[in-house]
Amino acid sequence: MSTAYDVTIVGGGVMGCAAAFELASRGVRTLVLERSVPGAEASSAAAGMLGAQVESHAPGPFVDLCVASRDRFSSWAARLREVSGIDVEHRVCGITAAAFDRAELDKMEAHAAWQREAGLRAVPLRASEVRAIEPDLAADVIGGISFPDDARVDPPRLLKALRISAEKSGASFRTGAVVRKVAGDGARSSGVVLESGETIESAHVVLAAGSWSTLVGGTTLAPDAIRPARGQIVELQLAVPFQRGIVVGSKCYVSPRDDGRVLIGSTLEFVGFERGVTAGAVRDLLTSATRMLPRLEAADLGRVWSSFRPYTANEMPFIGPSPIENLWLATGHYRNGILLSPITAEIIAALIAGEAPPIDPSPFRAPA
Ligand SMILES: Cc1cc2nc3c(=O)[nH]c(=O)nc-3n(C[C@H](O)[C@H](O)[C@H](O)COP(=O)(O)OP(=O)(O)OC[C@H]3O[C@@H](n4cnc5c(N)ncnc54)[C@H](O)[C@@H]3O)c2cc1C
Repeated sequence: MSTAYDVTIVGGGVMGCAAAFELASRGVRTLVLERSVPGAEASSAAAGMLGAQVESHAPGPFVDLCVASRDRFSSWAARLREVSGIDVEHRVCGITAAAFDRAELDKMEAHAAWQREAGLRAVPLRASEVRAIEPDLAADVIGGISFPDDARVDPPRLLKALRISAEKSGASFRTGAVVRKVAGDGARSSGVVLESGETIESAHVVLAAGSWSTLVGGTTLAPDAIRPARGQIVELQLAVPFQRGIVVGSKCYVSPRDDGRVLIGSTLEFVGFERGVTAGAVRDLLTSATRMLPRLEAADLGRVWSSFRPYTANEMPFIGPSPIENLWLATGHYRNGILLSPITAEIIAALIAGEAPPIDPSPFRAPA
């Protein structure tokens, strides 16, 4: 079988599904090829922090990209709700960074200072002010920073909403479809070849295979251009949620859900593609979280899981053209793929349509 599409997308994580939604909304004939099911990997495992500011450590194109994406979420969530009927639980709850010693606080204050110079809201807080925002923080908190514009979303809901919205807008999905390589003459892509040997022709290909992107043949990515960075999460369940927003400390973050679930994350481990949750990580995450928020000690223990963030050497994503004509990259989003999904999808859709992208993607080129 050989079907001609305008665009085939390799991978049905948040990047593939968001790009499919954006492309299909523009009337582009789009096919998503997913070896498992959409959202099977990192995208459904994420905590869902939209930490544009808390996750950015210096002024420059990365923080600009993060803030532009975060600021799209309100209208994007409304659009997804309208098309799919699903509430992705987008909440502008703010993120509070809490310090328990002077060194932590100094680091946070420096972080907040450059952000304020960049025109972003990052509010230094005394101990009493931190506890006014999050009354259940441990009594020995000495201060912190509030990032009132950072937000959260529920990743599994987001993935469901994106898949449904993409399909309703005209995109097609094939599950269980493992892409072996990008087809073409090495200078220009002409589609993809599946593990089954089937060739699928398309004018454009978008590589959105997350941590597995360099395992897809026919690209110019070096084998170690993207590496899996395992992250583990512990979920607790409270009868009634007490946190107002997300709390970040030096060793973990604690992100609440509307229904009383609380996500504690996350480790950062380079262990190849070894799946698993370890006793030591669960111990450390629970110790750090209950140290910051002692009321969590009474919570029920929920699930634990891990997945792989697509890590790049400079910790910035690859978004935009590749040296192979008509092969586009939407991968390597490391810790911020959920946050960066709307802006990445918009950039890719604009570039494929031959339009000016909403943000200059040149700082996010993959090394040749
Ligand atoms: C524990 C943890 C917590 C995180 N928390 C946050 C957070 O709070 N906020 C945030 O913004 N980000 C967070 N992230 C990061 C975020 O999850 C990732 O950056 C994002 O999900 C990457 O999306 P993706 O679509 O590129 O990759 P993935 O979701 O991994 O999707 C890639 C897809 O490609 C498919 N695939 C791979 N190879 C092939 C092939 N050959 N053929 C067909 N299909 C293929 C896979 O099956 C997979 O479904 C977190 C990640 C982890 C692990």
